[in-house]
This record gives sequence, structure tokens and C-alpha cells, in this order.
Amino acid sequence: MVRKTVYCSRIIAAGLCVAMLAVMLPPCAVAQETIVGAGGVNTFSGRRAFLHLEAICDIGPRPTGSAGMLRQKKMLIEYFRGQGALVEEQPFQIRDRRSGKSLQAANVIIQWHPDRLQRVLLGAHFDTRPFPDRDPVDPKGVFVGANDGGSGVALLMELGKGVQLLPGPLGVDFILFDAEEYVFTTRDPYCLGSRWFARQYVDRPPAHQYRMGVVVDMVADKNLELWQEQNGLSWPDTRPIVDSIWKTASQMNVREFIPRPKWTIEDDHLPLRNVAKIPTCDIIDFDYPHWHTTQDIPENCSGESLEIVGKVLLKWLQSIE
Ligand SMILES: [Zn+2]
Repeated sequence: MVRKTVYCSRIIAAGLCVAMLAVMLPPCAVAQETIVGAGGVNTFSGRRAFLHLEAICDIGPRPTGSAGMLRQKKMLIEYFRGQGALVEEQPFQIRDRRSGKSLQAANVIIQWHPDRLQRVLLGAHFDTRPFPDRDPVDPKGVFVGANDGGSGVALLMELGKGVQLLPGPLGVDFILFDAEEYVFTTRDPYCLGSRWFARQYVDRPPAHQYRMGVVVDMVADKNLELWQEQNGLSWPDTRPIVDSIWKTASQMNVREFIPRPKWTIEDDHLPLRNVAKIPTCDIIDFDYPHWHTTQDIPENCSGESLEIVGKVLLKWLQSIE
């Protein structure tokens, strides 16, 4: 049975951050199993990743242009430089939809082994939605975005150690995208940071080339369910990436990566693939009950879930030839 639903940018006002065109298949049980890792895979600690997630959320809300975002960005730049990465900001301007004024935004580009010219891009948005507009009690309340905005960043913070050990020839870039959801109304555009990054990649091509990309978003749900995102599965250039990541998970006996589609989601992978022509898929758990509410907090997230995704990604990176 396949049920097709409507394009959801129409209902963004009701609180959707990512537009979806849902194709729902029958749900399947998600078994909890132990991961059997090897080598560099074991450098990923869910406990440490969760501490990163808590530190990010301690800053408070981090929407584009806010004091919280600036504090977070400073913290992340210092952290990744301390880990030995080459870190650069990629500034850009957006228009504040409420005031009409220009607003400063910036992606952050974190490079491991920058001398390697063939590279893999791992991306996550690091801004948080301005308001928890799906909250049934307080839709103008405080939104710290532990899973939605925090989890992808926390995962990348912990992933750096393992990525440093990758023997090559591929290098890895972490890209933190700003303004993924600086939205207040149904008319406001999403994914501004990844669009800017993609446009720059085309207009001012760097010496290196991205062979492929993976976006991680909402990967810390306690009840982790990672269905294959429909766009990534349907495009011929991204399907092999989806297949290889979920196959890696299967080989590791990780059942949270469910090798079937469920949601079609508009996320930062779209500009990367459609504008920059970097084949990019999205790893996202869209079945998170606290999505865009005041309850998207660390208490509703899990270090074990971050570890599951981190170890699969590390193993997958090690398998790329
Ligand atoms: Zn969101």
C-alpha cells in the first residue's frame, strides 16, 4: 500500500522545517542491536557526542544572526581548529523577512587533509528555527533544537577524530550550513546557506572536487528510525550512495538504518545535488515526536543514536575506494 500526500511547503506555517512529499510504506519494527565496529570506527563515542550536544544546547537558541549563533560559531571554529582541521567561514547576506534589513550569515567549512583533491562532503545545518511553532502550548516559546540543529553538529564534532585517521586518497570536509530554516512564514525560503555554498562551488570552483556528499539532520532521536529519503533514492547519481550507506549499516547489524523509503524531504542535500551537482543524500529521522516544539531538548535525545550514525558513517567512509 502506498499513500501519496501533498507537498508540504504549503503547510510550513504550521511548523514544517523541511518540506516533504510523503510516500508512506507500512512501518517496520526497529530492532535494537549491538554494533560490531572495527578499527577507526571505535573512535566514535556516543557519550562524547552527547556532551557536545549538551554544550551546544547550553548556548540556547541559535537562529541565524542571533547572539547564540555567534557564540556557537566561535565555539565550533575553536573546537575544530583545536582538532587540527583547516577552518574557514563562508559569509553571506540574507534578508530578514520581518524587518527587510540585511542580515549577516555564514557557513563554516572544516577541512581534514586539505591537500587531498578528491573529497567527500558531510554537511549539517547549525542554525535553529526561530520559534517552536509546532508546540501545542507555547509556539512562540524557547526552541533550542537539540535534535533539529544540534544533533548533526554534535555528530560531526565527534566524527573528526575518526576522519583524521582515514588513509586516503579521499579527503573529507564538514560543512556547517547556516540559514537552513530562518523562516517565519510559509513564503520564507529554506536552505539559504547550502544554496549559497552550492552557488559558490559552481561560480568560483575550488581546486578540489567533491565526489559525493551526505547531509545529517535529526539523528539523535532516542527511537532512531532512519528510512531512506526518497529524493536520494530516486536520483540515479545518489542512489548508489544511499545503497552503500544502508548496506554498510546492514553489514554492521545496525537495524536503525531501514533499507526502505518513507519520506521525501527538502533539506540541504537538494541545492548540493541540483545546483552544485554534488551527488548528495540525506540521513534524517523524520519520525521525531518533539520536532519543532519546546521539547526538542537533550533529554529527548540519545548519545547511543549519535553513536550508531557516527559509526556507520565512519565505516562507510573507510569503504570508499
Ligand atoms: Zn527544523
